[in-house]
Amino acid sequence: MSEKNKATIAVRHGIEADKHHGAVVPPLYLSTTYSFADFDTKRQYDYGRSGNPNRDILAETLAELEGGAKGIITATGMSAVHLATQLLNSDDTLVIPHDCYGGSYRLFTSLEKRGLLKLKVLDLTKSENLQEILAIKPKLIWIETPSNPILRLTDIKAITSIAKQCGALIAADNTFLSPALQNPIEFGVDIVVHSTTKYINGHSDVVGGAVIAATQELGDELAWWANNIGITGAPFDSYLTLRGLRTLNVRLKQHQENAFAIAEYLESSPYVSQVYYPGLASHPQHELAKAQQRGFGGMVSFDIKGDINDAAAFLTSLKDFSLAESLGGVESLICHPATMTHAGMEPKARLEAGVGDTLIRISVGIEDVKDLIADLDRVFNLVKPGQGLQVTKAEAKQAQQDTQQNASFKLTPAHTALW
Ligand SMILES: *Cc1c(COP(=O)(O)O)cnc(C)c1O
Repeated sequence: MSEKNKATIAVRHGIEADKHHGAVVPPLYLSTTYSFADFDTKRQYDYGRSGNPNRDILAETLAELEGGAKGIITATGMSAVHLATQLLNSDDTLVIPHDCYGGSYRLFTSLEKRGLLKLKVLDLTKSENLQEILAIKPKLIWIETPSNPILRLTDIKAITSIAKQCGALIAADNTFLSPALQNPIEFGVDIVVHSTTKYINGHSDVVGGAVIAATQELGDELAWWANNIGITGAPFDSYLTLRGLRTLNVRLKQHQENAFAIAEYLESSPYVSQVYYPGLASHPQHELAKAQQRGFGGMVSFDIKGDINDAAAFLTSLKDFSLAESLGGVESLICHPATMTHAGMEPKARLEAGVGDTLIRISVGIEDVKDLIADLDRVFNLVKPGQGLQVTKAEAKQAQQDTQQNASFKLTPAHTALW
């Protein structure tokens, strides 16, 4: 593994690797096939599904950043999650957290319904539940910390020690923090999974995934499966994702600085009943966050006062936050998990995971945080959540349009003359 620091690895890995022309940035190889050097003599690459230089540079960079032996780049985050399940036979048990990513939950439960694996759902944020795992004797334990959307933490050291005691493999979905802020392999995790769609690419313009294995042997087995089932990522996607990854460290610094300011603002607001952010001293696992993370990340969730109507009026009136799913891009996104990201969950399971109708999740972007807080403040004062619906969703939306019109930049002949 490289002795360099993470920011340097992210920026420099693969730079100046071009032997032919000395291109500083690794060139894009779109070719699906590669000529043989001679009869029966393959070069490094033969066919695009099995290997591609752009995919390899991204995989190596991520493996180094996570401290793993081998990385595999997949077409989507979900195909990375699916890849890890290839290690299971039909009588193997997979333990998953009750509040894991909705798409992962849907995949795991669908595979179980088809008899492809056995499943046990547990609240892994409670240390008393960890002992239960010993009796279950799973083949694989899945963790996601902090979890989506209410940012609960799993004690990585404690659960890896349980996994070792019962001979289980352990996989961590590290999407929410990225390798800039947390490295589960350091704590004994065997497999790290990412949706690179989020912070790693960081610009909301590529869907992709990655699996990083702690050992070469496990990495080779997973890479064999990725080629076998044909889920490896596209060259151009890998090229763009690597470009995004170059700035991961600086982006995350700003994401979390802004997130911290917004979390503190929300905590002081009379219109908010609870804020979920591991950086706040009020977060029940603040100390654990300090112990296993190098930062608190850019995601903040909160419960707005009132009911779903207050949430709807609030969410549709903001102008510096886009009402959208996904996270980790430079622009701020806001979402209502109950009707958006977690709509596919059974209502009972959803409520048990802490996703009620008043829960709102923000992926805090890297804009000037003064503008973001001013927008939140304007809309709180307009809607006054929890005070018996002061304005309806339609009125709030109209107010947003009025503000946008007032604020919009008007071109004058002097401006257009410059073009
Ligand atoms: C988005 C996400 C996924 C799925 O990734 P896609 O790129 O959308 O397929 C998996 N886990 C987490 C935590 C995510 O946020």
